[in-house]
Amino acid sequence: MPSVLLVAHHQSYRVPAYQRAAAALGVRLVVASQGRHSVIPEIADGLHVEFGNVPEAVERIVASATREPFDAVLASDDLTLEVATRAAAALGLPHNPLSAVCAARRKDLARDALWAAGLPVPRFRCLNLTQPLAAQISGLDYPCVIKPLAMAASRGVIRVDSADELQRMLPRVAAIVAEAVVPDERERVLVESFLPGTEIAIEALLSAGRLHVLAVFDKPEPLDGPFFEESYYITPSRLPRPLLARAIERLTQACAAYGLREGPVHGELRLHEGEAWVLEVAARTIGGDCARLLSFGAGRSLEELVLRHALGWSLDLRPRGGAAGVLMIPTPAAGTLRRVEGVLAAQQVPGIDDLVVAVREGYELVPLPEGGTYLGFMFAHADTPEEVESALREAHDCLNIVVAPSLPVVSVGNNGDKINGDRSI
Ligand code: ADP
Ligand code: CA
Repeated sequence: MPSVLLVAHHQSYRVPAYQRAAAALGVRLVVASQGRHSVIPEIADGLHVEFGNVPEAVERIVASATREPFDAVLASDDLTLEVATRAAAALGLPHNPLSAVCAARRKDLARDALWAAGLPVPRFRCLNLTQPLAAQISGLDYPCVIKPLAMAASRGVIRVDSADELQRMLPRVAAIVAEAVVPDERERVLVESFLPGTEIAIEALLSAGRLHVLAVFDKPEPLDGPFFEESYYITPSRLPRPLLARAIERLTQACAAYGLREGPVHGELRLHEGEAWVLEVAARTIGGDCARLLSFGAGRSLEELVLRHALGWSLDLRPRGGAAGVLMIPTPAAGTLRRVEGVLAAQQVPGIDDLVVAVREGYELVPLPEGGTYLGFMFAHADTPEEVESALREAHDCLNIVVAPSLPVVSVGNNGDKINGDRSI
């Protein structure tokens, strides 16, 4: 039985999808994660590594492979890519160059690579937050976008329209990046010109440097800032074919510029005046469990394709017909989630396949730019993208998300008691 090692965080929602795919293909899947105390058997019984200590994690994987060899090593997401890539290299298995994987994760390295390859890029520069800013920000174009070097889900990404606003917002971004482990990612941020235009996402698979497009998603809601909350993703795209062809060409060139040659890629691009500008290319599949929207050939999942590709098996990349989409349910306000009303009505809207509320009642909702978790997801399919979009919009209208604003802890009375100022609606 072929054996694949999946390097994943122990809470990753991607693990069950890969387990189902491995079971369907008759592949043994070993999960390497930090989840020593996990209740999920595959993780508890898997290989335990510390992602914070990359050389030791790689050593453990290599040691384990001498007992039971692996035929491929995969990363589940951006955070596990380095360990997976180094382990694959140490085991002599196919992998992307480490420099390519680093470029895909780090926005500053990515911009350098695209610029050096002559691809269209916004004007960009890095600011060092530990140094005086006045000289560093002189001569910038506005509007521009401040971005952490290596975060996801639009956390810390803010559009600013003037130098004053930039100065006001930088401490806010500094507080967000302060949690980064790598000093560079704590101390520096990227600033780049704001690119107007429509945004799309492209899901693709690289095989020996050749890009196979699996799906193009429209993002029909304008993303003009100041924060960039993801919402609707609808496939197939309704944009004109020449524009899509340009986007695919630019994504292919971007992968080559980073040095990516194998495995899944998720690209995001802005389309403006006939040109496609690469925002980012991640060396992984689409996030948020959205891969479930896609199926190929005789009903194979995206994870099955990724496993088959990793094992060098034949691929049937024909997409399922029809249209599909997801709404990443927007966080309406900061506070404590009390309840989500209207779920049943939303689920009954024709075309809606599933509605998942990811945040439990009583938990804190933190909107962007600080927050980075999605409140939930709604999945739909129909014959056309228009029908998918209107089903998702109608279902979203059914929802009433009740949030109790969190107020700071305040003193009451004269006995010094403290109460948490949490107002229920
Ligand atoms: P993340 O990795 O956190 O998703 P991105 O670089 O993809 O960060 O940026 C998040 C979002 O911010 C993008 O999807 C886009 O809507 C917006 N954005 C980022 N850079 C620009 C830019 N230069 N011009 C316009 N919008 C941008
Ligand atoms: Ca993004």
